[in-house]
Amino acid sequence: MRGVAGGTIVGLASPPGPGLRGILRVSGPEAWHLVEAVWRGGEGPPDRTRRGFFHGRFFDGVGELPLLLLWMPGPRSFTREDIAEFHLPGSPPLLDLALSRLLALGARAARAGEFTRRAFERGRIDLTRAEGVLALVSARSAAEARGARGLLFGGLGGRIEVLREELERLRALSEASLDFEESDTGDVPAEELLAGARGLLAGLREAERWEARRVPASGLPRVVLLGAPNAGKSSLFNALAEEGEALVSTLAGTTRDFLGAPWTLPGGAVRLIDTAGLTGAARGLDAEAQAETDRLGESADLLLWVVDATEADAVGRCEEALVRAAETPVVVAWNKDDLAGARPAPELEATRAATVVSTSATLPRGLERLAREVARRLGIRAGATEAGAASLDRELSARHRAALRCAAEAVERGLVAWLGGTPLDLFAEELRAATAELDSISGRTTPEDLLDRIFGAFCIGK
Ligand code: GDP
Repeated sequence: MRGVAGGTIVGLASPPGPGLRGILRVSGPEAWHLVEAVWRGGEGPPDRTRRGFFHGRFFDGVGELPLLLLWMPGPRSFTREDIAEFHLPGSPPLLDLALSRLLALGARAARAGEFTRRAFERGRIDLTRAEGVLALVSARSAAEARGARGLLFGGLGGRIEVLREELERLRALSEASLDFEESDTGDVPAEELLAGARGLLAGLREAERWEARRVPASGLPRVVLLGAPNAGKSSLFNALAEEGEALVSTLAGTTRDFLGAPWTLPGGAVRLIDTAGLTGAARGLDAEAQAETDRLGESADLLLWVVDATEADAVGRCEEALVRAAETPVVVAWNKDDLAGARPAPELEATRAATVVSTSATLPRGLERLAREVARRLGIRAGATEAGAASLDRELSARHRAALRCAAEAVERGLVAWLGGTPLDLFAEELRAATAELDSISGRTTPEDLLDRIFGAFCIGK
């Protein structure tokens, strides 16, 4: 086993300080012995092989406490070891006593992140998922928590696995072809290698973009402009956004950039993002821009939905926006209300998770109210946002993106060299280098000191 000392560990898994319940978590070969030693109760401790919650009392050496025991026998547990969670009354002095008792009985105090590290060391979770747990427990906003969940549920880990398999396949293929190159006994499957390398490059870049979307670079809440073409999205963007336009993401090979800029609301700033608009295009560059627009919409903290009030079906468009309010808060800009043909804005019941605000991007008019409504829906109050605060997940994400970029560069170098006439073994070598980059993300080969730093950032008991 790497890096982690063995033994049975114990840590406080509930937040420190008084609470309704305190949880002491134990993991390791002696967990069952500890349960038997502290258990009091008429029926005796539960069956060692049965997973579940059991009611009894905890004997701390002095007195007894009401106990709810969660028993998870290995290997079907988070750490693959026997895990006991002692749920006790949340009084700090009583918890201290109970903890001392478990230590006296032979458990060792867990280090920061040691439970999660055991799960990682035993192959229960890859490093990206472990980082997801870490990012989730340290998230300070809904947006950060959402990003962390993306990691935790394997969004990056899953992508890395697929890319790694493809790298291995291509490397095997190029190594097998080396013989052909030398002996002229067969054909190098040039097309397959080429197509494979191109697919890989696209996959690596997409993973990097996914990661960039997962963790917003600025840490500000993301407000994404959506709506039909010509509704006035760009006009509103220009009227609301302050600073010179910054790139959010660029689609490979197109000039369809998505623009983002800070927008100051009463109480704090957000990042406003303009999109290609919802055209429903199914093919070509427009379809790609459409897919990117959908993805941006999904990662938004709030959708600012622009409706052209002069359009015949303006109310229908508005309804389309309101459907989305089930998942993400929506504010509808009922735009172009300066024009003679503008219809009156629909009245929504106060209970809906959406608001309609009449605006004119060109006059301009209604923009202060728009800003107020967006701030209200996002729950931004004065002083509540920490603009640009460094988040742990942002640091992790920067590491992931750097490794993905290095992997893509290696594949590209290998491909260019091979197309330029260099023998295939160099190509195979670069593919190996790319695999090593991916392995540093998933934790297969992450250096020990980096692992120490990552897991050391966890809380005790996690
Ligand atoms: P987008 O495709 O949604 O980005 O729409 P644009 O912002 O490019 O606007 C489309 C057209 O509508 C342009 O000619 C704008 O000048 C015009 N427009 C946008 N907003 C308003 C508005 O509030 N009032 C008026 N009168 N025209 C507007």
